Amino acid sequence: MYYHSPESLVQGFMGEVIARNPGEKEFHQAVSEVVGSLADYLIVHPHLMDRKILERMVEPERIIIFRVPWIDDSGQVRINRGFRVQMNSAIGPYKGGIRFHESVNLSIMKFLAFEQTFKNALTTLPMGGAKGGSDFSPRGKSDAEVMKFCQSFMTELQRHIGKDTDVPAGDIGVGGREIGYLFGQYKRLQNEFGGVLTGKGLNWGGSPLRPEATGYGLCYFTEQMLATRGESFEGKVVTISGAGNVAQFTAEKAFQLGAKVVTLSDSNGFIYDPDGLDAEKIEYVKELKNIYRGRIREYAQKYPKAQYFPDARPWGIPCDIAMPCATQNEINEAEAKTLIANGCTCVAEGANMPSEPGAIAVFQQTGILYSPGKASNAGGVATSGLEMTQNSIRLQWTPEEVDNQLRRIMKDIHAACLRYGKEADGTVNYVKGANLAGFIKVAEAMMAQGLV
Ligand code: NDP
Repeated sequence: MYYHSPESLVQGFMGEVIARNPGEKEFHQAVSEVVGSLADYLIVHPHLMDRKILERMVEPERIIIFRVPWIDDSGQVRINRGFRVQMNSAIGPYKGGIRFHESVNLSIMKFLAFEQTFKNALTTLPMGGAKGGSDFSPRGKSDAEVMKFCQSFMTELQRHIGKDTDVPAGDIGVGGREIGYLFGQYKRLQNEFGGVLTGKGLNWGGSPLRPEATGYGLCYFTEQMLATRGESFEGKVVTISGAGNVAQFTAEKAFQLGAKVVTLSDSNGFIYDPDGLDAEKIEYVKELKNIYRGRIREYAQKYPKAQYFPDARPWGIPCDIAMPCATQNEINEAEAKTLIANGCTCVAEGANMPSEPGAIAVFQQTGILYSPGKASNAGGVATSGLEMTQNSIRLQWTPEEVDNQLRRIMKDIHAACLRYGKEADGTVNYVKGANLAGFIKVAEAMMAQGLV
C-alpha cells in the first residue's frame, strides 16, 4: 500500500490497526502516537513500507494467554487470567515487566509490550520487547495467597521464558516479594538457578540499584531536559503521582537533587505536603507501602501539616515539574491545561503512557519540556539489562558502578531524543525523537534478519 502524504499514511494505517484489533483502545492509542511520529520518515523511506516493517511491528510475534487457578485462604477456588505478549525479538531476547492489577487485559498488555520494544531499543542494550501479567491484584491479599498465585502463574509461564528467550521483571503490583515467589517456582520446576527474572534480591542474583533505577533514571533524564534550558532541580516544586516503586525513588532522587516534592498518590487519592518530603518522610512512605502495604492517606495522619484529598489526582497543585508515576491515562487534557496555567514548565513521565493524547497536545503546543515514558522511564529496564549482564558473568557490580552506567544510559537516551527530535525552531520533540530512534534500530535489525 502506497501513501502519498504523512496524513494519509497515519489514517490508512490506523484504520487497519483498529479493524484488526477491535476494542483494544490502549493499544490503538500507543500505536497511533508512534505512527504519528514516524509518518514523515516512512514517506521518504518507502522500502520500509514495502517490507511491511510497521505492520510486522504491531503484530506480536507470540501471545500466550492462560488460566491461573489457585486457592485463597478461605479454601475457595479462584481463577485468574495470565498473559505474556512477546512482541519483538529483533534486537535481543524478549524483555519486559509483569503487571498484577485487576485492570489487566489484552489491550493493556499489547500497548505495554509495543512501548517496551521502542524503550528497550533506546537503552542501547540488546533487549527485545515483551510484557505480561494477570488480572489478579495483590492488594488486600495475604502473603500466602500472593505466593500461591505466583506459583500457579509461573507453573504455566515457565514453559515460555528463559534467560536467552524471555526475561520478565516487575511492574505494577509486582515488586521484590512477587519476583521472589516467581523465581523460586521457576527454579524448582526447571532445576536451574539463572537470570530468568530481573529485580531479584541482592543476595540471590539481583543488581544493586535495580529497585531505585526507574525513579533515579527518570530524574537523571529530567536533569538533562532541564539543562537544555539552563535549569536544574534545585529549588523546583515537584508533583508526583503514585506511591509505589517508581514514585518512591523519583521522590528520593528529586529531593537529593534539591527539589521540593509536595505530592504522592494512590488509586484512592493524593497527599499534599506543603513543606515537601524529606529523607525521613520518604523512608516512612517506603515502609508504609512496601512493608505494611498501607494506603497513602496514612501519611496525612502521621504528618498533620499534610492534607489528604480523596478521589482526586495531584495535578491541580501548582508545581514547576510534574512527574506522573502511577499508571496509564492519568493526566487528561483539562488537567494538562491546569498544570500549565499554574506555571508547570516540565512534565517527565515515570509511568507508561500516563498522558492522554489531548494532554500531550497541550504540552507540545505550549512548548514546555515534555518527555514520554518510553524515554524517561527506561532506566528500570536498562538496569534489568545490567542485571542480566552481571548474571551472565556471575559477578555483582558495586552500586557506584551501576549508578554510573545508569547515568550514562539516560544521557545517551536523551542524546538520541535530541538527535532525532530537534525541530527547526530549536525546540525538542521528545516523542518524535524517542519513537524515531527506537524505530530505526529495530527496523534495521528486522530488515537484516529477513522475513521472520
Ligand atoms: P507499583 O505497583 O509499585 O505502584 C503503582 C502505584 O500507582 C501505586 O501507588 C498504585 O496505587 C498507583 N496506581 C496503580 N493503578 C492506578 C490507577 N488505576 N489509578 C491511580 N493510581 C494507580 O508500580 P510501579 O511503581 O512499578 O509502576 C508505576 C508505573 O511505572 C506503571 O505505569 C509502570 O508500568 C511504570 N514503570 C515501572 C517500572 C518499574 O521498574 N517498576 C519501569 C518502567 C515503567 P494503588 O496502591 O492504589 O494501586
